[in-house]
Amino acid sequence: MPEAHRAIVIGSGFGGAVAALRLGEAGVQTLVLERGRHWETSLSEPVFGNELTPTSEMFWQRDFAIWLTMEPTLIERMPGLMEVITAGGIQIGTAACVGGGSVVYAGVTVQPERRYFEALFPRGVSYEELDRVHFPRVRRMLNASYMPNDIYQADPFAHSRAFDSQMKRAGLPTEPIQTTFNWSRVRGELAGRLRPSSILGESSFGNSNGAKHDLTQNYLPAAMATGQVRLCQLTEVTSISTGPGGRGYTVRVRRHAPDGGVVDSRELTCDMLFVAAGSVNTTRLLVRARDTGTLPDLNEHIGTCWGGNGDAFVYRTFDGATGVSQGAPCASSFFADEGFGMPIRVENWYALAFAGEPYLSQFSVAVDMDNRGTWTYDRVSDQVKMLDWGPEKNLGPESAAMAVSQTVIGRGMAGPAPVLPPTGGTAHPLGGCPIGRATDLYGRVRGYRHLYALDGSLVPGNAAGANPSLLIAGLAERAMDEILADGG
Ligand SMILES: Cc1cc2nc3c(=O)[nH]c(=O)nc-3n(C[C@H](O)[C@H](O)[C@H](O)COP(=O)(O)OP(=O)(O)OC[C@H]3O[C@@H](n4cnc5c(N)ncnc54)[C@H](O)[C@@H]3O)c2cc1C
Repeated sequence: MPEAHRAIVIGSGFGGAVAALRLGEAGVQTLVLERGRHWETSLSEPVFGNELTPTSEMFWQRDFAIWLTMEPTLIERMPGLMEVITAGGIQIGTAACVGGGSVVYAGVTVQPERRYFEALFPRGVSYEELDRVHFPRVRRMLNASYMPNDIYQADPFAHSRAFDSQMKRAGLPTEPIQTTFNWSRVRGELAGRLRPSSILGESSFGNSNGAKHDLTQNYLPAAMATGQVRLCQLTEVTSISTGPGGRGYTVRVRRHAPDGGVVDSRELTCDMLFVAAGSVNTTRLLVRARDTGTLPDLNEHIGTCWGGNGDAFVYRTFDGATGVSQGAPCASSFFADEGFGMPIRVENWYALAFAGEPYLSQFSVAVDMDNRGTWTYDRVSDQVKMLDWGPEKNLGPESAAMAVSQTVIGRGMAGPAPVLPPTGGTAHPLGGCPIGRATDLYGRVRGYRHLYALDGSLVPGNAAGANPSLLIAGLAERAMDEILADGG
């Protein structure tokens, strides 16, 4: 690994992969630093564990496995697939692998609702432009599509049909939504040609057979194919500062062994630095840099506007055929502006543990305009923490989610009472480097030249009624168009 680089991108998730591809196409020599591993998938062998059979490889540097409703289990510390953080009253899941969140996500690819987007984002970030140019570009790159009818009618999607039927009979009709599942892999699983994964309800800890069109199948190989981009896995950035003589940037990295332990630490320099480590980790790096004085001119908005996207999970029952398992791809969703306390999108989710059981999992994202947290540097522990997020900040989205389920139950479509698991959790951390405040309207970080934040940290705590990956990738595409047109 040479020490001096033209551009460094920290993170290989949605923001980082878009930045890497567009830099490579523009002929800019680029190094992508990713803390997690590249996981080779297999059509026949298990690569990842799942919620019912937890393994150490599923978690980033933890002593016990924990995620939403999973039973805590002792594991060994290693650079595993997902980082789970408990910050105040919320549990946050964020990816730790090559491809970032695209490996662990459920592939749901939906647009923010325009009216709420315009209330949340600065005026200069045009919804019309994202809708016309950048969202279609991302959807094409990721192969987003609707669930075909033969799959919807298959046995593992009985829960999807039950959800749609419940919602329709309750007067809350769903509409199809796009995901990035690869339907020929799903058909291969259904036909018994491939080891089953997505049809069992695996997704949150990856699909061993590569059943999603994740970033390791599109943006990242396209970036490498430019000949300008290299990616170093298991390479974690621990600090950022200005470069030698005040020119460019120095990043300090720690290299991990795949089975745990640190290989070495070293410093690299670059002219242009793209921080795309995801909302929590971009925020941690930038708050630390400002408050320890390595980038003292970062402004007061760094660390602010953090939110969990109004995420909530609710379970309820259904009658009729249960199916042998609950497939992971989501077929449909329902959006309501009013009637539930907050505008809310609900989606039919899945649960491995519900195989053959008459329980439905409802996932929702509420448009929560108010509840936000702030990350600060704590000198005593030398850690960046969010101390102002109490359980009360989860209540609005959770009661909106419960209200939808209670409406379904109240109209006689399910029973008994809905269950809200005691989670206070989010899979959608957003904010910490809000666009238009900590950065300009294109992710250029205020106070420094050639320093960019390009990931979920730009989104001010809520994705306006959407799961956030399309928005994050769209904002990154838009920013790269502008940054490259401007000569960097
Ligand atoms: C279980 C789950 C299900 C989800 N389902 C959906 C869904 O269906 N639809 C949807 O739209 N969204 C979904 N999401 C959310 C989505 O995955 C994220 O919003 C998205 O990945 C965020 O993109 P990003 O570019 O901000 O960061 P990420 O995709 O998280 O990428 C950041 C990358 O940076 C790396 N990194 C972090 N710190 C460092 C460091 N210090 N040094 C080097 N590398 C670092 C990380 O390992 C990671 O690979 C889901 C998330 C989870 C956890």
